[in-house]
This record gives sequence, structure tokens and C-alpha cells, in this order.
Amino acid sequence: MSNQLEVEKRNHRKLGQELELFTSMEEAPGMPFFLPNGMVIRNELENLWRKKHQKAAYQEIKTPIMMKQELWEQSGHWDHYHENMYFSNVEEQHYAIRPMNCPGAILIYNSKRRSYRELPIRYAELGLVHRHELSGSLNGLLRVRSFTQDDAHLFVRVDQIESEIEKVLALIDELYGHFGFDYKVELSTRPEEYMGSEAIWDKAELALESVLKEKGIDYQINPGDGAFYGPKIDFHILDSLGRSWQCGTIQLDFQMPQKFNCTYVGEDNNLHRPVIIHRAIFGSVERFMAILIEHYAGEFPLWLAPVQAKIIPISDSHAAYANEVKSQFESAGLRVEVDDRSEKMGWKIREAEKQKIPYMIVIGDKEIESQSVALRKRKEGNLGVMGIQEAIQRFIIEINQNS
Ligand SMILES: [Zn+2]
Repeated sequence: MSNQLEVEKRNHRKLGQELELFTSMEEAPGMPFFLPNGMVIRNELENLWRKKHQKAAYQEIKTPIMMKQELWEQSGHWDHYHENMYFSNVEEQHYAIRPMNCPGAILIYNSKRRSYRELPIRYAELGLVHRHELSGSLNGLLRVRSFTQDDAHLFVRVDQIESEIEKVLALIDELYGHFGFDYKVELSTRPEEYMGSEAIWDKAELALESVLKEKGIDYQINPGDGAFYGPKIDFHILDSLGRSWQCGTIQLDFQMPQKFNCTYVGEDNNLHRPVIIHRAIFGSVERFMAILIEHYAGEFPLWLAPVQAKIIPISDSHAAYANEVKSQFESAGLRVEVDDRSEKMGWKIREAEKQKIPYMIVIGDKEIESQSVALRKRKEGNLGVMGIQEAIQRFIIEINQNS
């Protein structure tokens, strides 16, 4: 198959519709609606994300998506970003819908007195943001106006910068490895429009570069592509067609702590200024899903598949046992459905394959007699007859290998 055909076959908007993952509506252009199947994938991704972040000693927070306009003037977003922001007036108060999650995390940091002993503080937030994009540029889940960043803000002492960036690099490597993604690294430096002094920028750029060098990570320099508040390391994952997608980012920020007067009490009892590391791994959960849909061509690994097995009774008389099998799989935490339509078995198998369901469980007289199931795998065909618990164990082993 030519690459172009393969790209079309994998188009996430087409697959998103066929597999009923998400949809767009005129009522909210660029703001995707997630359907039940899509939510299963999304929740699995978020569960994995939570598990990895808890292990890495992050604390999860949730902050408002709408806050007073003054806050955005203070953060610099008003000056540098307001053309892409949405606003609202309520009771003569001006509000802005957040385009980024940083100020919320900073307000929580500032909500009490901090000591050097508490640092680093790592706040993680699956934060919904809105950014205006021209209607002509909208594209499924890839380019949207509302999306969820898998964000985190690390408040660190200057002496902790390098070790914290090393830890973020390791977490990113672990999470991408989970999907078998290789990735490229780029270091983006001071843009034309920037906040703060050149000396601080040089210091921040040097810090990022030295960690990359020390870790022996190959990287390219991307001059002028940094955020307005600091330089960044970007991560571009490579999908199964060899295409590269920018996802993760680590941004070092000496500006925001100043703008918001963030402080901590040092060992010397004086007030010091922490540094903020902004970072995301998926980037946008929505966009990462689009990439996964195309990467897997909709044939999700078992742990992500919205329906993990379709149970197919050969005739109506097998339906009761099919439902018994279903409840045993569900008790083990697996996602299965019974196809009890009055259609030929071959047709039902083809239907399940079209929906890219990983397994089919066929139930006939023989299976009922021996209290077993006949297992088929998508693309591989028959795997033979086995006990219900044996089949369930097989699923669980496959899921654990992946997650
Ligand atoms: Zn941020």
C-alpha cells in the first residue's frame, strides 16, 4: 500500500467516526465531543498518567478554567496571548477563559508560606484550556479550540533545577516507551517577543542544555522558538508511519515566579525566589489520542481497546451462556459485549473485525457442554477452545504486559 493510502486509511477523523470515538458539532466548532468509546481510551490514558505521576511524587490539583482578567494581565498572557483568548463578563467583572494552566498552580503555591524543605513541589493538573484557532485551521482532535493539557508545574530551588529536569526526562521516556514511541528532542531558545532579561535567558538556556549533554541525549537547537517566559525542550514522537509529532515539553521559567512574587523561606531564614518548571508529556490529551488512533490505525492494544472482546453466540439458544461468560469477564474488570443479533456467525465475526475489536469469543453447543469458550484473535484467527478463567487470565496477562 502506498504511504498516501495508508495515511488516508489511518485518518483519525475517519476512524473516530467509524469507531464512534469522538465527534464535532456545529454548536461548538473546534471543541470535540467524546463518545462513550472514546472516553474509555481517554480514561485509560489518564489512569496511566495518574499512576506514573503518583509514583514520581507529583501531587494532583484542579484549578478553575475561568479567572479574573487582572490575573492574566499579571501573568503576561494578556500582553502576549490575548488574541487567542476567550473572555466573558459577569456582574461587570471581566473574566478570561484560561489558555494555560500556570496561574492556577501558582495561586495554590502562593496560598501559604513555603519553606525550602518543601521544595521541590510538583503540582500536576489535567487542565482544560481554550485557545482560539481560525475556523479554517481546525482539524479533528489535532487542531482544536479546547483541549486538556497533561500539565505540571514544579516549584524548585535553583540548586534543584538539573536534578528535577533529569527526573522529568526519565518520566517522559517511561511514558513514551509504553506506546513503543521513539522520539526526537529539540531545544528552543529565546523568541523575538520575550519577557525578562537576556542574562536570565542565557542562564536558563544553559541549564537545559547542560542536562541534555550530561544525559547524552541527542538534540537539535531550534533558535527563537521558546515560550515568551523561558526556553524549552520539546519532544517529537515518531509514529508507525515515521511521521513526527511534537508532544511533550519542558519549560524553564524565571519570569512567572517574579511576576507573581513566589517565595520560600530558605535555610538562612530569608525569602528566596523559586524557579518554575512547566512540563507536559502527552501535550494535549486530545491530540495525543489523534496520534494514537493513526499510529495504531484504530487497532488499539488490548489495554486501550474500548471493547476488548465481542461474545458471539452461534444461535439464540446460546445467548444465556454467552451472558454468563460476559458477566465473568466483567467481574474481572474486562470490557466485553454480546452480539445476540439473529445473524450468521461469519457476518458477526466480520462486523467485530470491522470495529477492530481485539478478540472474539464464539459460543456454541460444544462450548456450553464443556463450560468453555472458543477464542479468536483479530487478524490471527482461531486460538482454540479453553476454560473461561483461562481465557480471562490470558487477557489479564496481555493487558499487564502493556500497562
Ligand atoms: Zn505552565
